[in-house]
Amino acid sequence: MTMHAADFIAIERSLGAHNYKPIDVVLERGEGVFVWDVDGKRYLDGLSAYSAVNQGHCHPKILAAMLEQAGRLTLTSRAFRNDQLAHFYREIAELTGSHKVLPMNSGAEAVETAVKAVRKWGYEQKGVPDGQAEIIVCSENFHGRTLGIVGFSTDPAARGSFGPFAPGFRVVPFGDASAFEAAITPNTVAFLVEPIQGEAGVVIPPAGYFSRVRELCTAHDVVLILDEIQTGLGRTGRMLAEQHEGIEADVTLVGKALSGGFYPVSAVLSNSDVLGVLKPGQHGSTFGGNPLACAIARAALRVLTEEGMIENAAVQGERLKAGLGAIRSNIVREVRGRGLMVAVELHPEAGGARRYCEALKDRGVLVKDTHDHTIRVSPPLVITADQVDWLVDQFDRTLTGA
Ligand SMILES: *Cc1c(COP(=O)(O)O)cnc(C)c1O
Repeated sequence: MTMHAADFIAIERSLGAHNYKPIDVVLERGEGVFVWDVDGKRYLDGLSAYSAVNQGHCHPKILAAMLEQAGRLTLTSRAFRNDQLAHFYREIAELTGSHKVLPMNSGAEAVETAVKAVRKWGYEQKGVPDGQAEIIVCSENFHGRTLGIVGFSTDPAARGSFGPFAPGFRVVPFGDASAFEAAITPNTVAFLVEPIQGEAGVVIPPAGYFSRVRELCTAHDVVLILDEIQTGLGRTGRMLAEQHEGIEADVTLVGKALSGGFYPVSAVLSNSDVLGVLKPGQHGSTFGGNPLACAIARAALRVLTEEGMIENAAVQGERLKAGLGAIRSNIVREVRGRGLMVAVELHPEAGGARRYCEALKDRGVLVKDTHDHTIRVSPPLVITADQVDWLVDQFDRTLTGA
């Protein structure tokens, strides 16, 4: 029996938990910026799995590295060593200017790892009284879905009915350095923040915010943790988004594109002694740092730089932002972004972004609404100028009703 899109959707509806509300397109194949559905229709992927496929779908060199390693050795656990981990450490440390690396799997696990490490650092190195460590976070943050993380979310959908939550977090407005300064106490061990808030709708902080935050963290001995799980690895036109701000985090979190979409791979990177507080038995993961993950991540990092994807993100990002910004439509409130991390925010009177995402799907463009009125546009970093122009044209027709 041949299954059609409606059949797949019906089974998902009846058997799956409804914790997502996907656009109703059933995909079966991908290559570069394109994906194909089960009816053979082609789409330009304007989401890139929330920036996990920066390198484009099914990149042949990452695929080759994965297949080669999968036939040799996949998992040893960290009870033993493997011949990929050291190479991965050296290569990611060099590319990101880091001194220590701790590999995990999902992004949320990298965040949890950082929270554990900075608390321990606070007690052992900073002298915070036991059990009193505080971590400052921002309103509208998105750092993942585990209990520890949703406990300091300000999104009612993310945290509602999931408590009780762990204490030790303070929330300040994003982009307000004075509010951050006022929230620091002698027990503050870290500030956890996204360089650009992605899930909140691509919110870029005011110029000078991060340089002031960096000064304050240094002055008060507070660990600056940048969550670059979405902004990192080329998305904004630099290897790390912190480079736009001229600062260096003490701890940087990466994930998503670290595998080019082939496998869950994340990492905590540190410039400081924070990761040094973790001793054998105090943290770990069965799959973290496995040879298959390391081989995939090494190839994913290599193609980002070798194939000029980061420079391309900067060039095509400007083109995309300019093109979208030139659309003459009275429902568009603002177009903003950095590199290929772009958002089109609609006026509330437009009646919600979802219907425009559906209309764009019919025109062969896959994008996703966020926070009701915003359409996020983040195609793979391998997109060409012609493809950007075509994408802009589809937005133009959709938003002007042409
Ligand atoms: C996606 C994301 C995470 C969580 O990553 P998962 O792999 O989904 O756990 C954390 N922080 C940011 C900024 C993200 O975009």
